[in-house]
Amino acid sequence: MIVTRKKAPQTIQELAERYKKLIIVGCSECAAVCQTGGSEQVKEMATLLGNGREILATISIESPCDKRISARDFRRLEKELEGADALVALTCGSGVQAIAEVTGKKVIAALDTDFLGMVERLGRFYERCSHCGHCILNDTAEICPVTLCPRGLRNGPCENIHGTRCDVNNDRDCVWHTIYERLSSRGEAERFAAYHEPPDWSTCRSPREEIWERK
Ligand code: SF4
Ligand code: SF4
Repeated sequence: MIVTRKKAPQTIQELAERYKKLIIVGCSECAAVCQTGGSEQVKEMATLLGNGREILATISIESPCDKRISARDFRRLEKELEGADALVALTCGSGVQAIAEVTGKKVIAALDTDFLGMVERLGRFYERCSHCGHCILNDTAEICPVTLCPRGLRNGPCENIHGTRCDVNNDRDCVWHTIYERLSSRGEAERFAAYHEPPDWSTCRSPREEIWERK
């Protein structure tokens, strides 16, 4: 899930200052779970920006980052879109860009996009994958050192490990210690020695694309 944070209300007010007719767009997937772009937050945004401006419509889209779904849902708002000066998107950065491409309109990004998150419960989101494109979880007991080691080491601990503790995040165990413990508990300690080639950065450079060839 993509974890997002709300920008400050004053920032949104300033960004929207010159636009008088607005459409507010929420996301009923990731941003709804983060309580940054669900139906409640769409209502709050309409109240915040409604003073002195016209809110032509509000809409919650299931996956606004999916241009097919955005295009389908905006078909219901053709008239409002025509009259709108700008849209305010309570979505991740991909959602903002998809909405701009689909509508051809100015889109104000109301959220900051943080990371790809694992959800423990509402309000507890943790970064566990940095989408490096060369996954080594099969050798690391499903614990990602690329993300959890502050140095991003893919081949065992650095020399600064203090006992079991990380020298950078010294309130935590070194992730490689945790990996070793989990592998050992499964009788798979030999996997600890697996060597991982450095990623081929030519294939992980942004912007990345995944394009299926039609058969
Ligand atoms: S190694 Fe870590 S960062 Fe890379 S794809 Fe796997 S989980 Fe994600
Ligand atoms: S002590 Fe472990 S987690 Fe900390 S930087 Fe070194 S290898 Fe990474």
